[in-house]
Amino acid sequence: MSTVLFWFRNDLRLHDQPALCAALTSGATHLLPVVCLPAPDERTSWGFARVGAHRRAFTAAALRGLQGQMKALGNPLLICQAPPATALPQLAQAVGATTVVCEDIAAPYEQAEVAALRAAGLQVRTVWHSSLLPPVSMPWPVDQLPGVFTTFRQKVERAGITPAAPLPVPTKLLPPPEVPAPVLQAVGAEQGAASIQQPTPPQGSDGRSSFPYGTTACDGSETAALAHLAQYLARKLPHSYKDTRNGLTGLDYSSKFSPWLAAGALSPRQIDADLKAFEREHGANDGTYWLWFELLWRDYFRLLHLQYGAALYRARGLSELPPAPHNPRGFECWCRGDTGQPLVDAAMRELAATGYLSNRLRQVVASYLIYDLRGDWRAGAAWFESQLVDYDVYSNQANWLYIAGRGTDPRGGRRFNPIKQAQDHDADGSYRRLWGTA
Ligand code: FAD
Repeated sequence: MSTVLFWFRNDLRLHDQPALCAALTSGATHLLPVVCLPAPDERTSWGFARVGAHRRAFTAAALRGLQGQMKALGNPLLICQAPPATALPQLAQAVGATTVVCEDIAAPYEQAEVAALRAAGLQVRTVWHSSLLPPVSMPWPVDQLPGVFTTFRQKVERAGITPAAPLPVPTKLLPPPEVPAPVLQAVGAEQGAASIQQPTPPQGSDGRSSFPYGTTACDGSETAALAHLAQYLARKLPHSYKDTRNGLTGLDYSSKFSPWLAAGALSPRQIDADLKAFEREHGANDGTYWLWFELLWRDYFRLLHLQYGAALYRARGLSELPPAPHNPRGFECWCRGDTGQPLVDAAMRELAATGYLSNRLRQVVASYLIYDLRGDWRAGAAWFESQLVDYDVYSNQANWLYIAGRGTDPRGGRRFNPIKQAQDHDADGSYRRLWGTA
């Protein structure tokens, strides 16, 4: 008997799961699927929780869904309340495994997790599968990504690079090995299982939320993700996406794919395949193209990480600009939605209350922290990491760098005037009234 460990990371799904397929075809006879929950008291260097209540609840629902699907396939997921560097070596030793297969994540925190496993003597096979297009299919070496998104997109489109078809859900899994009870206890299996149960009182169903993740339709599971994609297409919403994407309230103004993409409950290749089928049946237009365009932005920020890695996390980013000093008082007011700027405050209240914020307002509040409050952009990025239900390390870091003018874009930063933004996007004040700032 030989066992392989499969470590679920930001890929909590069974459809289009190349990493899991690699584990299933590794030659092992048994599979131990594991997920490690972040410590409830883990804090950022800025002094607040790294994973806030919204994302915890959304991830818990994703795990409940995955747990149910894996049980049905005869191999229930082991949910550990312990860091991977503690849990995985103990589990491997207990079941006689030497190899861990997992998703490749090209960001410093996530790479340090893998390095710790290797330092503990495990062989770790990482599989890249979070992007629409595989980095190796690009018509340039991985370290020569075009510095401007438009150039990147044009080159991809001219070269005719298209995503591969998504993989189907495996019809069966390998059987699980026996894990001794003391080891289960040492890796916090009981606490892990308990902590993904429904929170009381239930969260995520604020009637004002644009993404009420506490409702069945928006819960974190793969089932909800695929149902959401299907209804989005059935209602032909891609056709109006380009006209509505700058909206501020409601479920339908943008796709709301991001929370499931971030948890990995939805594969970008599944979205692409279904969108292409939609275009064949109902026709392509600017809206359907723009969804592809935005998913390419998501890929671009992944490739940026493959090229620049930890340099993206420096205070100066990729620029030679001096680091911005932290503004603790301004930052606290910003987090609370108490700066005195009505649009910014409304947005920050929405973020704290619901864990979601429109792209338009993410840009406005990031700009306000950087250019009006003259704060450190990294504190803002950390607050988003803590609060966002759709936190994605690549998209968050790179969007903040982009607005701060510390990424690759030669045009410098992006400053948004909140008064003009309010006139353009909340002319009747209804958004500010909804969040009590007008
Ligand atoms: P839609 O408008 O429907 O777009 C479809 C998909 O395209 C999204 O789900 C997303 O995967 C991708 N996409 C759209 N815009 C962007 C973008 N600017 N950058 C990268 N991908 C994009 N997105 C995250 O998923 N996680 C984050 O942590 C995150 N942090 C951000 C921080 C800042 C400061 C800013 C300005 C943007 C951030 N974004 C982040 C990007 C964007 O705001 C969200 O992807 C989008 O609002 C999610 O809603 P949606 O799925 O309805 O998007």
